Amino acid sequence: MTKLLGDFDVVIVGAGIAGASLAFELASELRVLVLEQESQPGYHTTGRSAALFSEVYGNDTVRSLSRASRAFFDTPGAGFSEHSLLEPRGTLFFSAKSSLDRLQALQAELAPRATSLHWLEGDELRRFLPALRPQAAQAGLFEPGACDIDVHALHQGYLSGARRRGATVICNAEVEHAERTQCKWDLRSRAGDCSATVLVNAAGAWADRLAVLAGAPILDIAPLRRTALVFEDQQTWDSRHWPLTVDIEETIYFKPDAGRLLASPADQTPSSPCDAQPDEFDVAVLLDRLERLTFFQPKRITGRWAGLRTFTTDKTPVAGFDAGVPGFFWLAGQGGYGIQTAPALAILSAALILGRSMPESLLVQGASVQALSPQRFLQTSALDI
Ligand SMILES: Cc1cc2nc3c(=O)[nH]c(=O)nc-3n(C[C@H](O)[C@H](O)[C@H](O)COP(=O)(O)OP(=O)(O)OC[C@H]3O[C@@H](n4cnc5c(N)ncnc54)[C@H](O)[C@@H]3O)c2cc1C
Repeated sequence: MTKLLGDFDVVIVGAGIAGASLAFELASELRVLVLEQESQPGYHTTGRSAALFSEVYGNDTVRSLSRASRAFFDTPGAGFSEHSLLEPRGTLFFSAKSSLDRLQALQAELAPRATSLHWLEGDELRRFLPALRPQAAQAGLFEPGACDIDVHALHQGYLSGARRRGATVICNAEVEHAERTQCKWDLRSRAGDCSATVLVNAAGAWADRLAVLAGAPILDIAPLRRTALVFEDQQTWDSRHWPLTVDIEETIYFKPDAGRLLASPADQTPSSPCDAQPDEFDVAVLLDRLERLTFFQPKRITGRWAGLRTFTTDKTPVAGFDAGVPGFFWLAGQGGYGIQTAPALAILSAALILGRSMPESLLVQGASVQALSPQRFLQTSALDI
């Protein structure tokens, strides 16, 4: 017999960082159910990130969401996490002589907001980051504000906080059917049936698939695979305090990771939604770039993985009600910034679902409901005609 899970104000599909953070923000005021298809929340992209918080990463809207998230990371509230969610890391962008103009352009772009940028060249750059080959790194731009995120603590803090506030989170509960009848959603999942006034699409790489299931238009949200690996190096560097280091063309990045080094070829290979696995070719590309651009001598690869970074066509997340399908709320397309922008996106989404105006803390950072709205894609297609 089919299990009945009950009637809820909001059912959130997906218990990654997006679904968990929104459940946390809504659960004090509404009856919230989170349904996750896997046995572990965070099994997909949330558990596979590089865990960086950087206010200079991404486009203007992403940057405004990151700035607006900072206060939550610094003071998430009593009982959220036993230790700090952020640890200082910094970011070093570097470039060869051939692309110095791009590094200079980045400096000019960031200067108005990032006041403590530091330009490095020659011996100063060598001392700062001795692993970079001189011919690959003519100059560097150091931005000290970036931090490592304790993603596990953030995600678990959201999930347990949401439960404490009354939300229900059910795993092994893939949503297989969604139908709107009489101002309600009737949902069928592997864990049982339920109904809800609002259905939230926080399904990550599966966002467009869930839209199809619910009869909503797809937004061409594209999952792109990215590979990462962790290695022990033969060199005896003390790399603990090195920044995340990335070339200006974004073909490689690396950062210290608990006594080892985490690196990625910054690949962006289109993929269908799936349990992404690292491809041997991408690993070989990364090892080749490490050899050409750095003095690293990887001794042993201790971990490798891939995850799907999911992008909208304008590389900006989508958060808002679908105009054509009542009660269908999008929270998707967070790309490579979904951890660092989760606090602001959750606060903004909760305000929209509760019918409230955008909190001042987001407005002052320049975040706008319009820039995130699903309607922007419909407007584009109308203009195209
Ligand atoms: C290599 C890599 C490095 C990254 N580095 C960073 C970084 O440094 N900083 C940063 O901020 N971001 C980073 N990101 C991006 C970040 O990880 C993502 O933006 C974020 O995790 C997206 O969260 P999500 O909750 O939307 O997706 P997910 O974590 O994938 O969650 C979506 C969930 O929905 C579930 N689901 C889907 N369909 C259904 C269904 N029908 N029924 C039930 N459940 C369903 C899935 O099982 C999944 O658990 C990185 C990503 C990768 C891959």
